[in-house]
Amino acid sequence: MEPAVTNNKTNDIIDWFEHLSENAGQVQTQTLRRILELNHGVEYLKQWLGDININDMDACALESLFTSMVPLASHADFEPYIQRIADGDTSPSLTQQPMTTLSLSSGTTEGKQKYVPFTRHSAQTTLQILRLGAAYRSRVYPIREGGRILELIYSSKQFKTKGGLAVGTATTHYYASEEFKIKQEITKSFTCSPEEVISSGDYKQSTYCHLLLGLFFSNQVEFITSTFAYSIVMAFSAFEENWKDICNDIREGNLSPRINLPKMRKSVLKIISPDPFLASKIEGCCEELQNLNWGGLIPKLWPNAKYVCSILTGSMQGYLKKLRHYAGELPLVSADYGSTESWIGVNVDPSLPPEKVTYAVIPTFSYYEFIPLYRQKQGCISPIDDLAEDEPVPLSKVKVGQEYEIVLTTFTGLYRYRLGDVVEVAGFHKGTPKLNFICRRNLILTVNIDKNTEKDLQLVVERGSQLLSEAGTELVDFTSHANVANHPGNYVIYWEIKGEVEERILGECCSEMDAAFVDHGYVVSRRTNSIGPLELCIVERGTFRKILDYFIANGAAMSQFKTPRCTANQVILRILNMCTIKRFQSTAYP
Ligand code: AMP
Repeated sequence: MEPAVTNNKTNDIIDWFEHLSENAGQVQTQTLRRILELNHGVEYLKQWLGDININDMDACALESLFTSMVPLASHADFEPYIQRIADGDTSPSLTQQPMTTLSLSSGTTEGKQKYVPFTRHSAQTTLQILRLGAAYRSRVYPIREGGRILELIYSSKQFKTKGGLAVGTATTHYYASEEFKIKQEITKSFTCSPEEVISSGDYKQSTYCHLLLGLFFSNQVEFITSTFAYSIVMAFSAFEENWKDICNDIREGNLSPRINLPKMRKSVLKIISPDPFLASKIEGCCEELQNLNWGGLIPKLWPNAKYVCSILTGSMQGYLKKLRHYAGELPLVSADYGSTESWIGVNVDPSLPPEKVTYAVIPTFSYYEFIPLYRQKQGCISPIDDLAEDEPVPLSKVKVGQEYEIVLTTFTGLYRYRLGDVVEVAGFHKGTPKLNFICRRNLILTVNIDKNTEKDLQLVVERGSQLLSEAGTELVDFTSHANVANHPGNYVIYWEIKGEVEERILGECCSEMDAAFVDHGYVVSRRTNSIGPLELCIVERGTFRKILDYFIANGAAMSQFKTPRCTANQVILRILNMCTIKRFQSTAYP
């Protein structure tokens, strides 16, 4: 069931998806059947399904058998198999086709990167979802054929495992794949930067060249994009510092000596030529923009851009304010929803603001199950957090308004794999659910009986930072730590801020945040002082860039980077503590 590629491609791919959506439940049953046919007899499945002849079974019976016999699993359950594959074992343990590539999931939310299977199917579904997302966007925001995209994308370093498998992030494999080139041909939109810029391995130099080329082609740029919003915010804050050098390079058709990677230099120099007129125009714009604190930078410098597209939900919410500042009146469109393990849903309503965006599940990409989660229910409280769970249901049985954890069975050898993402069913697109991304499931802040998730922390930080905004200061980034080394333990929140603010206000922000945690366990523990006062540490400018550099040096990719919102990583804590310039203690709960 592949989408057709004919002349009227936008409509073809939308028709393909609309048709699938009408019968999403049946399509899921068939998708599971295809996965099991392709990987029938692999070691992992054999232990649960034995030697059952699946060809004799109808798809519905197979679905019931699969979900009753194969247990729910986590990454740890697949790790020994993936490790053997990485070491060169080619026996069919997870998939019948030998695996040649492994992906690193960003894993920065848990402080640890994980290997995840990656196959040709992964690159193909990436191409499909990007085409589909682009088709829905172009209905609302039509773009010119043959135009350019300023894509702030980055490959990570690739390496080989002991068994010779290529390892890199999923985006890295995709940018290196045939599908990445095909997508440009099919959508008739071309990225400004050559492959050498995307894969240089040095994100600072790549960012400089992305911006330089984006400006060199500024009149042709139809939209600006990145995987996660973080990269766009990072790039434009670098631009605030480097714009003069970039203008000089455009004027002279040359490259600043800061770009010292020979392949990247050569590829960029081949593209640019001296353009003093453009350079002066950009310089004029930047001088004006400086006085506006760079508000409206994007439409000013890219006058033909129709929108900015990136993942804006979940842990990216914190960057929305800054992105809106740069984008001015230009619409912000949330990109699609997926993970290294599998793509999940497409944004079919691109005109919705990021706060309201939902993702329609694509029922051919994987087989999805949904574990119902309840916040208040007594009984089987999960050890992961304070949510109670029910039995997983198939896509056809989900209910609007209910929260679920997503479980994936993929073409790449993961079976009933708990992804750890919490979503809410917001409605249906024909017969397929539209999901609202809520948060990562794992608890991040806990000292004793208190339980707070990333979402809880996000809300608390939003409350605290309101006082900052009122004082004209900006929160650049944040993280936290549950300090259990002392007694009583306490929460520590680290803020990097831009601008001057009175100490009194920072003290108020600290108490405001302490009082804003509504989790019952926290409130009770604070009242009885079994959790100590919340501490707010202000770190010097550039601290979060040091943290990014640490992760990049350890194999993370800029394209998939998400600042960890809570950390127990000793290296990160050392960076944070060394860079702390001011400390405040909450006076809430006197
Ligand atoms: P990675 O492991 O680097 O592939 O990151 C995948 C994770 O990023 C997902 O499991 C989600 O937690 C998060 N993510 C991906 N797409 C979105 C989205 N559209 N909105 C919110 N979070 C997302």
